[in-house]
Amino acid sequence: MRTWWLVCVLLALPWLTPQYVMAQPQCGFVDSVGFPVDVDTFQLMQDFAVPSYRHRGWYHTAEDWFGGRGTSYGQPVRAIAAGRVTLSSPIVWGRDGGVVILEHTFPDGSIYYSQYGHLIESDAVRFPQPYTCVAAGDILGLVGEARPAPHLHFEIRVRNADLPGPGYTERDPIEEGYRRPSQMIRNWQIWLSPAHRWHLGLLDETGPATPPISLGDESLIFLDTDRVSRLTPDGRVLWRVNLEQTAVALLDTANSVTIVYDNGHMQQVDYDGAVQQSWDIGSSFSGAPITPNNLYVLPTADGALVALSPNAHEILWRVPDIPAITNWAFEGGLLALMTTTRELIVLDLNGAILQRDRLDGSGAVAVIPSGGLLAYANGGLWQIQTARLENSTSATQGGAAFVAEDGRVFVFDNEVLSAFDNARQVVWQVLLPGVTGTTTLSLYGDVLLLITTQGNIAAVRVSDGGLCGILHIYGDERTRTWHRLGGDGVLRIAIAGQIVGLDWSTLLGVCD
Ligand SMILES: [Zn+2]
Repeated sequence: MRTWWLVCVLLALPWLTPQYVMAQPQCGFVDSVGFPVDVDTFQLMQDFAVPSYRHRGWYHTAEDWFGGRGTSYGQPVRAIAAGRVTLSSPIVWGRDGGVVILEHTFPDGSIYYSQYGHLIESDAVRFPQPYTCVAAGDILGLVGEARPAPHLHFEIRVRNADLPGPGYTERDPIEEGYRRPSQMIRNWQIWLSPAHRWHLGLLDETGPATPPISLGDESLIFLDTDRVSRLTPDGRVLWRVNLEQTAVALLDTANSVTIVYDNGHMQQVDYDGAVQQSWDIGSSFSGAPITPNNLYVLPTADGALVALSPNAHEILWRVPDIPAITNWAFEGGLLALMTTTRELIVLDLNGAILQRDRLDGSGAVAVIPSGGLLAYANGGLWQIQTARLENSTSATQGGAAFVAEDGRVFVFDNEVLSAFDNARQVVWQVLLPGVTGTTTLSLYGDVLLLITTQGNIAAVRVSDGGLCGILHIYGDERTRTWHRLGGDGVLRIAIAGQIVGLDWSTLLGVCD
């Protein structure tokens, strides 16, 4: 009898390892995530982690979503995802209204809690019962009265399943287990999408300070705050070097990477992570390089631009008084820069300034493959140092421009993406509403890829402007982006706190 019992236990052992014991949660795994209110009509009234002077300078644990004066009150609040109700009380916050908390279990086993505060019930809408299951999008309650105006206090956290919470914390809310709600939702929308292959979380929430170095096997060497790491093609960290000073840039220097520190110290690391020689170059640096014609051109702390020799041991030239660069292009010996002060500056590769114009609005520069450079600003297209080419009817500013090998020009003005043929006639236009942030346009075969610092990703068919695929990853006004479509069919994007690998053909959908 006792032997049989032992045999049964031994047979069961393999099934007790974690991969077998993670049973389906009571309310199912999350398969989709959305916002609790309509983010096209609601806006952020108080952001996550900002200090509140009405609350002793403590930090906000939530995002406060406001639906407009006179229209916020009574609006429905929806479950962001399938989950289990862990708290549901109309009175738990006293005169600050009711609270509902849901527990969500994701396919990787991670658990998040979403809390909805300042809610009220009505005759038609009652709070869900505790310990019941809700589906994504179910109405949980309505926006109630709150100070200073009716709004939803919306929290995401990884602990405290059924505590209504103080709303503000003395310490950093992240350390207290709270998460930035919009970031969690946008990221899980991507991580649950069919195109998602892998992602790696970064310490730097603002995205890559300097573009990662891409190696032939599609692995990446990247800087993340005080460490340099190599990422395998499938998204794993192969090695990591911890830095003792503040680094601002990585340079790809002949079978090694040169780390540029802000004080002008340079440190070589080989592709296997072994630390090599170091030297000082006698200039302070403040940011990422631009690389016209494989030259390294870096901004300095005192507002100059410095060009380094290919081995990064010498300074070739130095040009003072160059504001921060938002966009650059190089062609035919001309380096065109757009700056944060809305200047278009054209230099030659010896550092001589050939042209310097202040524009009415922000703009972009692009290479014309058949020769020359194109500037897009003030709603017009300009060929640099030749006649004005095109004055489009759009009056909006900024955006991005890209010129294809065959001379077609693509311009995005932060609302409409337009394609022009060689004769500068409009071939097609497509409206891309809700696309914000600084935009990069790239052409891959017959697909134009648009990526913004606010996390919009859109793939558009070049022939007719048809939308192939659109995604929204988390990005904000602090974000920088970098991306590369690898030979392995993986689109790697570095943005706000992560590097994500997306399957290109899945992203293209109908256009593949
Ligand atoms: Zn709040």
